[in-house]
Amino acid sequence: MKHQYIIPIFVPHLGCPNDCIFCNQKSISGQKKNMTKEEAKKIIDNYLEHIKDDEAQIEIAFFGGSFTAIEETLQNELLELAYEYVKKGKVESIRISTRPDCINKNILKRLKKYKVKTIELGVQSSNNYILKRANRGHTFEDVKKASKLIRFYGFRLGHQMMVGLPESTRIDEINTAKALIKLKPKMVRIYPVLVVKNTKLEQEYKEGTYEPLPLPQAIETCKELVRMFADKKIDIIRVGLQSTDEIADPSQEKSEVVAGPYHPAFRQLVESAMWYDAIVGKIKRLNVKVKEVEVKVNPIDANNVIGHKKENVKKLKEYYDVDLVLKQDETIKQGKSKIEVTKTFKDFAYEEKEEEERKEVSKSKK
Ligand code: SF4
Repeated sequence: MKHQYIIPIFVPHLGCPNDCIFCNQKSISGQKKNMTKEEAKKIIDNYLEHIKDDEAQIEIAFFGGSFTAIEETLQNELLELAYEYVKKGKVESIRISTRPDCINKNILKRLKKYKVKTIELGVQSSNNYILKRANRGHTFEDVKKASKLIRFYGFRLGHQMMVGLPESTRIDEINTAKALIKLKPKMVRIYPVLVVKNTKLEQEYKEGTYEPLPLPQAIETCKELVRMFADKKIDIIRVGLQSTDEIADPSQEKSEVVAGPYHPAFRQLVESAMWYDAIVGKIKRLNVKVKEVEVKVNPIDANNVIGHKKENVKKLKEYYDVDLVLKQDETIKQGKSKIEVTKTFKDFAYEEKEEEERKEVSKSKK
């Protein structure tokens, strides 16, 4: 399988007419300068120099602000630059992320001209009250309209949603996932809300009017969302913000995060929790007292089965007195497993008895 590489180019806050409650785009992108064509070229060349894989599938992605809301001349300059790399065969495709109210037919026609392949929309919630509360400046109707147009023009559609926005509940987030599934995105990103410095949310947090989600609750909700999207074969390209110098544990000096469910391995926590549920589900369905369970998975899933810092192994032992035995098997597809109970308490007692008998026999022979 070809390796996929993304060359991320952050275009911070430029031209964004909004001021979403949670956003300080300059902190998130780790970049205080505005993006220029020259700067973007440097970034692309630098990445290309380091990708040694001839078979690699490389994509240039304009992330960050609302790409289609920035000054059109700069958009075109950046797109022209990226398209040059596509034409030369150095890069396979181009991706942009933008707001749903910054999409219309003319914009899409222009993006087509530069062979943009993927458009990701910042949706955040399907609930108009929550969107308003977050000062998003668009409604879910805008999301529906933009999504339909994007698909109609033959782009790959991506959605980004948030968990833990002010006044949003688990049910609201599940409803958002349901509403997004109906719009048939090819991919989604799920971001638990973090309180970032110099945002309106930070102010609310300090005033006590916003309480961020605790990490376990964020994991629980994301687990359900991941399951829903995975069931519909929608690619989940990110769960949790990517850790950078600025997006780091609030205790770290350079961190721009003030509070919220930050974890450097957030996605692993979610996926491990899903494996834990699957194993416990299997144990509970059997009418025997399980002592040992063997889980066979693809090597790619091995770490998630065991859990971050062996959390699943420890929890199974502590809460169920069950030993987890992991077997790696390349013939099993990623995400699939064979879970088998390899010892019940009866076997265990029997083994212990046999061992005692063996000891007795060896004693009597001496
Ligand atoms: S629309 Fe995007 S870039 Fe603009 S303030 Fe909101 S989150 Fe930030």
